[in-house]
Amino acid sequence: MAKMYYEKDCDLSKLDGKVVAIIGYGSQGHAHAQNLRDSGVNVIIGLRKNGNSWPVAEKDGFEVYTVAEATKKADVVMILINDEVQAQVYKNEIEPNLAAGKALAFAHGFNIRYQQIKPSADIDVFMAAPKGPGHTVRSQYTAGKGVPSLLAVEQDATGKAYDIGLAYLAGIGGARAGILETTMNEETETDLFGEQAVLCGGLVDLMRCGFETLIEAGYAPENAYFECIHEVKLIVDLINKGGVAAMNYSISDTAEYGEYVSGPRVLPYEETKKNMKAVLTDIQNGVFAGNWIAENNNGRAFFNSKRMEVKRHPMEVVGKELRENMLWKNDSDLDTASN
Ligand code: NAD
Ligand code: MG
Repeated sequence: MAKMYYEKDCDLSKLDGKVVAIIGYGSQGHAHAQNLRDSGVNVIIGLRKNGNSWPVAEKDGFEVYTVAEATKKADVVMILINDEVQAQVYKNEIEPNLAAGKALAFAHGFNIRYQQIKPSADIDVFMAAPKGPGHTVRSQYTAGKGVPSLLAVEQDATGKAYDIGLAYLAGIGGARAGILETTMNEETETDLFGEQAVLCGGLVDLMRCGFETLIEAGYAPENAYFECIHEVKLIVDLINKGGVAAMNYSISDTAEYGEYVSGPRVLPYEETKKNMKAVLTDIQNGVFAGNWIAENNNGRAFFNSKRMEVKRHPMEVVGKELRENMLWKNDSDLDTASN
């Protein structure tokens, strides 16, 4: 079994007298900053002067500085800006201001795993990654709970990287749920694989195929939406709560029989696994990362055209209309961020 840490293993006082700079104030940034502050940690924010988040962080009562200034003032620098811009910001604003013995932290390993950021050997480098969206990290914390999190110590220059990392995760509430020790390589590769093969790539295409099959056969798009998209959440909630067996217990025996006979027909195992292994290989050997970095450097033509295509898809058009008439349309808990 992999190593797990809980609150009893963490000593929040390891952050006493230290300044934590949260770089970025988006989904993860606002949650880490507010949770740490509520845990008694001295937090400042680093942002672009003309960016949208600056006034938001100020309104929330934080001292806000440029990324360079915040880095200079801090003992722990947590990078919570978009992964695609981290390398540039690190090179220009963080690296020149990061003195030996300080700690550099991430919530995702992409830039370390694919060597877009190469920290000098005299600083601590760790990853403190909640396995959930930032808004959940905040709402769970205020409810007295926490989001399960990952800790990876990539460089332990001072001998204190574990203490700092565990204290940080206690401060954001992760230790209440459990901290799994991992490496930034493992986190990055499994995270990319999960989102590509199952969570985002696999799931969206599965729903889209189901939706299209029904409307191409002449059924009402509203019906196709309820069946193939809306109900996914209800099923996933049951699995999340009690596993597949508990889900099967809640659905009808007819649905369960259909699961056994038709699941393997729509998702041929051997072929799907072969394809999934190819996806994993591209993640492991850096092909996916290289393509994504190039896509960003070349203006995102493919990315933007796909995003537009999704927006125009009938399942999105009909879904938008149906959701607007649902009672919970104003749920503030919705988080549009990925991961
Ligand atoms: P986000 O897009 O919600 O927020 C990004 C923030 O960075 C914004 O405040 C933006 O103003 C700021 N920013 C952007 N460019 C900047 C620049 N050049 N200089 C200074 N500030 C800049 O991002 P996020 O989803 O919170 O992701 C942050 C990190 O957390 C990423 O490494 C991501 O992989 C990781 N992560 C995200 C989630 C999630 O669910 N959102 C979960 C786990 C880990
Ligand atoms: Mg993920």
